[in-house]
Amino acid sequence: MAKQVQIKYTQLFIDNEFVDAVSGRKFSTVNPSNGKVIAEIAEGDKADVDKAVEAAKRAFNRNSKWRKMNPYIRGQLMHKFADLVTRDLEYIATLETLDNGKTYASAVEDVQASVATLRYYAGWCDKIQGSTIPTGDTSVTFTRKEPVGVVGQIIPWNYPFLMLVWKWGPALATGCTLVLKPAEQTPLSALYAAALAKEAGFPAGVVNIIPGYGPTAGAAIAEHPEINKVAFTGSTEVGHAVMAASAKSNLKRVSLELGGKSPLVIFDDADVKEAAGIAHNAIFGNHGQNCCAGSRTFVHSKIYDEFVKQAKQLALNRKVGDPFDSKTDQGPQIDQEMLDKVIGLINSGKQQGAVVQAGGIRHGDTGYFVQPTVFSNVTDEMKIAKEEIFGPVQAILKFDTMDEVIERANRTNYGLASGVITKNINKALEFAQAVEAGSVWVNCYDAVTPQTPFGGFKQSGIGRELGEEGLNEYLEIKTVSINVTKSN
Ligand code: NAP
Ligand code: MG
Repeated sequence: MAKQVQIKYTQLFIDNEFVDAVSGRKFSTVNPSNGKVIAEIAEGDKADVDKAVEAAKRAFNRNSKWRKMNPYIRGQLMHKFADLVTRDLEYIATLETLDNGKTYASAVEDVQASVATLRYYAGWCDKIQGSTIPTGDTSVTFTRKEPVGVVGQIIPWNYPFLMLVWKWGPALATGCTLVLKPAEQTPLSALYAAALAKEAGFPAGVVNIIPGYGPTAGAAIAEHPEINKVAFTGSTEVGHAVMAASAKSNLKRVSLELGGKSPLVIFDDADVKEAAGIAHNAIFGNHGQNCCAGSRTFVHSKIYDEFVKQAKQLALNRKVGDPFDSKTDQGPQIDQEMLDKVIGLINSGKQQGAVVQAGGIRHGDTGYFVQPTVFSNVTDEMKIAKEEIFGPVQAILKFDTMDEVIERANRTNYGLASGVITKNINKALEFAQAVEAGSVWVNCYDAVTPQTPFGGFKQSGIGRELGEEGLNEYLEIKTVSINVTKSN
């Protein structure tokens, strides 16, 4: 069962020190495999966010060590931080599995992806260039790309360490300072990241971590008059609240990475076994707790029955249990609330006439486990085809033509990701051009890399993370125009 591991940090991290919350309050973080408390964590709220913003402002002062640092050295600091993450990879992955319930193997992959992302952004530090702009010989005009300043970052629990790194990478590369709130369910790896940032040598106030609740600590960040930009990943509902808070306070820049109901379309020329494997991983990866999960599997009518058979078998083979056991494919959902939500949606699928091919109920009675569930005969108006389930539930829909499937794939307010499986390059490109989604994966799924922009169309978000585009969210562009007068 769960590994014994020492929890080293449980306090807020402000100005390079671990401190208690101003209120003195604490909250419990729970192991989702057994529902038991792992540790009591300092609970930050507005007063602590204010303190952290003060520290981040000092660190961003124009005469500060951070602002005066050669960008090359900033890159070296980021590499040093990546070295320390690599040194402590097993410990961080263990914290992640304990706090989140994801399998240890997938936690290791998350930390490896985090290192790759840090190194990618470390390389950008001294390559963020403005341009010179032709305005005629009587002037010289150039642009500077400057850090936006103090940024607030609010992240979810599904990839706690990786989401922190997606936020820190571009913020640090551009020279911003930051205040981050991890999700209440998963504060442990963020606090450890703070300790490593200090060890790497980041100046005081550059990174600050305030664990706490969304409506208190999170809202204090979104509303703060001296935070210049907020980056949020989580539900579309809270995304609306974050944007409204920006509008009501100081018009801080907002980037949002929200939910999805992503279509994965499988044409009749596909190898059915291979396609079923891709579709299985697309939905069951990370227990379905993935914003870009392939949660609507559209299968051509000619191969539908065979595909359902294969999908069912893959789900039945999936081993659910202790996430520290190397034979386990799927650990628990994050908490009781998500367990209830997922089971509620599964029940709605049954009531609305979808056919359960595998699973369909809770797994065991301890922890928050759900059986890998496959529904066939799913139709577009069913709740399981419309709402983000965020659980291990595959919904398989039937289609006949390209035009039909494009129209149905796009009939949603979401637009985060999509996939298409076919041997016909023309079909793949026609779909790729027509689908309303920030990513299109052809004959693969989840092809997310540090250098490729990621984000959503429509209500799946605003802005992009990763790649060069991810940097732009943290930069202001300043135009400098110089008059050149004729010398005599
Ligand atoms: P959530 O409420 O949107 O949580 C995301 C982050 O926002 C957490 O840190 C949360 O704090 C914080 N937050 C909550 N209310 C806030 C507010 N009023 N102002 C500022 N920050 C606030 O998501 P959730 O409750 O964990 O999950 C609900 C649903 O969101 C899921 O079922 C899923 O559909 C979706 N989701 C999407 C993603 C994604 O990657 N796009 C990730 C997670 C969940 P707390 O720590 O208090 O929660
Ligand atoms: Mg919440």
